[in-house]
Amino acid sequence: STAPIAIIGTGIAGLSAAEALHAAGYSVQLFDKSRGSGGRMASKRSDAGALDLGAQYFTARDRRFAATVQQWQARGWVEEWTPSLYQFANGTLNPSADEQIRWVGKPRMSAITRAMLGALPVKFSCRIAEVFRGEQHWHLLDAEGESHGPFSHVIVATPAPQASALLAAAPKLAGTVASVSMDPTWAVALAFEKPLDTPLEGCFVQDDVLDWTARNRSKPGRDTTLDTWVLHASSSWSRQHLDLSKEQVIEHLHGAFAEMIGCAVPAPAFSLAHRWLYARPSAAHQLGALADADLGLYACGDWCLSGRVEGAWLSGQEAARKLIAHNQ
Ligand code: FAD
Ligand code: NAD
Repeated sequence: STAPIAIIGTGIAGLSAAEALHAAGYSVQLFDKSRGSGGRMASKRSDAGALDLGAQYFTARDRRFAATVQQWQARGWVEEWTPSLYQFANGTLNPSADEQIRWVGKPRMSAITRAMLGALPVKFSCRIAEVFRGEQHWHLLDAEGESHGPFSHVIVATPAPQASALLAAAPKLAGTVASVSMDPTWAVALAFEKPLDTPLEGCFVQDDVLDWTARNRSKPGRDTTLDTWVLHASSSWSRQHLDLSKEQVIEHLHGAFAEMIGCAVPAPAFSLAHRWLYARPSAAHQLGALADADLGLYACGDWCLSGRVEGAWLSGQEAARKLIAHNQ
């Protein structure tokens, strides 16, 4: 069949699959409900330049992913980030340096998916509501009621809770996906005119509110006009405060940050909050990628594996591998 393969989601998993299929000679058509690619690796434009509100950095433990990251580095899409690391536990802040290599997109996290997308055909601001099978081919129906197709196969590369409805044509896949639950994360960015008087650039936090904080401008290639910080609330705090207003979330996280950081924290020049409803899988899985190869329906994403950038990339590779293997 010469119809292209539809890929729903332009996060790292969908683009990983797209790249592998394109390299194997297949044509693909990507869709995303957002205005740009990246998903949870997206960066938010602000008065202080782009801010990484989702994924903060990533590690490469798998041999294949490590080799790919080397290529990204050679092309200038990523660079190593070597923050001055701390941890905050039992109410005390301590330096916590280690040997781990940590990567970030350059000049912002979204640079990676933007470069992977390249010139591949994509429809943004297009939320797919239904995936259905015609006599020979697949068709997609978007939230505006417009239909797209025909497609030879469909790869669903969204967070699990958003994937189950799209997999209704394959009840077994839909059932597996429905058993994967994902936790939310409230993210807040604070920008200060005068740099905070601390050497801290990244901190693993264990308290009732926060999970992580980082100095955004300590990453390579970032705007340094303001001293910008990204704060992530813990899963449990985020779940308990899911419907709080953004103003209240900023107030709570600003307060927790000021308590742990150990230096004066003035009122920020600006602040913003973002709620990631499906930030991370509640548990790790070993699903690889889901497939109903006879139907031609696939699902991939971080939730299939480690819930990290690396896991999402590997899951996209696995979906492409299964599709290609079945077609040979
Ligand atoms: P996503 O990036 O979520 O991509 C899915 C895409 O599908 C999105 O673009 C979405 O708009 C689109 N979509 C959804 N539904 C539809 C629909 N119906 N129609 C069309 N499009 C749709 N990982 C790390 O390795 N290191 C970290 O430090 C780290 N920190 C994180 C911090 C936060 C706050 C969050 C939220 C995540 C973090 N992660 C981190 C996890 C990492 O971001 C994810 O594992 C990875 O980006 C997931 O990629 P994905 O392609 O599977 O999904
Ligand atoms: P990693 O190896 O740097 O961190 C893994 C975990 O080990 C950390 O969460 C932390 O608890 C601990 N750790 C690592 N280095 C430490 C140090 N120097 N001092 C103290 N503790 C340290 O990276 P990874 O395995 O690639 O994990 C990615 C990170 O992304 C994790 O921190 C994870 O919590 C985070 N993440 C967050 C979300 C979210 O929604 N907030 C989603 C996915 C991943």
